[in-house]
Amino acid sequence: MKQEINHENRNHAKLSASGSSRWINCPGSVKAEEGYPRTETEFSREGTLAHELADTCFKKGKDADYFIGKRITGEIISKDMARYVQEYLDYVRSHETKDSLFFGEAQVDFSHVVPEGFGTLDNAVLIPSERICHIFDLKYGAGVLVSAFENTQGQLYALGILNELGWLGDIDKFRIHIFQPRKENISYWDITVEELNQFAEYVEERAALALAEDAPRIPGEKQCEWCMDKANCKALAKFTDDIVRAAFDETDEDEKPKFKKPSKLSDKQKKLILDNKDLIIDFFNSIEKDIYDRLITGGEFKGMKLVYGKSYRVFKTGAEKKLVKLLGKDAYEKKLIGITEAEKKLGKKKMAKLTNKPLGKLTMVRSTDPRKAVVVEDIADNFEDMDDEL
Ligand code: SF4
Repeated sequence: MKQEINHENRNHAKLSASGSSRWINCPGSVKAEEGYPRTETEFSREGTLAHELADTCFKKGKDADYFIGKRITGEIISKDMARYVQEYLDYVRSHETKDSLFFGEAQVDFSHVVPEGFGTLDNAVLIPSERICHIFDLKYGAGVLVSAFENTQGQLYALGILNELGWLGDIDKFRIHIFQPRKENISYWDITVEELNQFAEYVEERAALALAEDAPRIPGEKQCEWCMDKANCKALAKFTDDIVRAAFDETDEDEKPKFKKPSKLSDKQKKLILDNKDLIIDFFNSIEKDIYDRLITGGEFKGMKLVYGKSYRVFKTGAEKKLVKLLGKDAYEKKLIGITEAEKKLGKKKMAKLTNKPLGKLTMVRSTDPRKAVVVEDIADNFEDMDDEL
């Protein structure tokens, strides 16, 4: 059954759900970002379109391939986008039951906890008989892997749902799902209503701090990643400087920094560097972007210039028709259809016999990661156990 929460259109919230991991972890970022224009990028436009497609499919009760080649909000839907969005649709729909209530893209209000706080959730499925509410977040980006674990955006949406649907006293917990098809990442995490109320108390304090004049700037990987003030933030520069210094020997006569040998670093220093590796790289990248932006807008930067990079030949517009005329069917390559498409044609049962899920590449993560640690002695056996043949 489809349910409405609130479709009123409001402008961007100062303390938004989507930006919550930033202002919760670095309250000073709200003031730091003031005055920066909100620019659209190719990636953000693509993400918006994928969300529009998913929403349209839910509203019209269609599958995504119905829209291939058609326009949604002026943009043509590609095969690739339809495939990824279909995976999301299938995932959300698989959670619906006879008695579930479905919520489409809608604004939820959590201003009882965060001043003027609201956000737009992608989808939710409430199942009264199981006393659970699923919250789904489609992440279309193919860059950074997003985890549902303690996800503040999802928790704020949950608070918004609780706020708007007072009769939710009938449920015990929320399950927050992150669905990131281009990273093959599905992650979910449960939070009880009681734990959510504890989060509300914490977030209320952080929101008050974020709106204070002297809100502190606290650098960290999560919060700095998308902060618009990154290239100019003194707190981040100092933080990076402290860590990088630990990795350098004294600079030589030519002022060239010399890295210490890893064997000369203590485990504590190694941990500090590793914990902040992405943040440091990100900081350097933001400096690079800052200089690039200066050059591309006609400015100068001593020692740097813009050049054209390496490029590859591409077909001219209209070349496809000509190729077909010249080569006939040899103009195209045959390709095996994808697993999702094959599953549509054959069904899950048959596909289970034709597919397996290989072990992922061994990856080093922080010990707080919820995944089970690999037992090194078992690695060889685990790979041997996998049968790739039919
Ligand atoms: S760059 Fe990092 S430390 Fe500086 S304001 Fe932004 S989030 Fe805070």
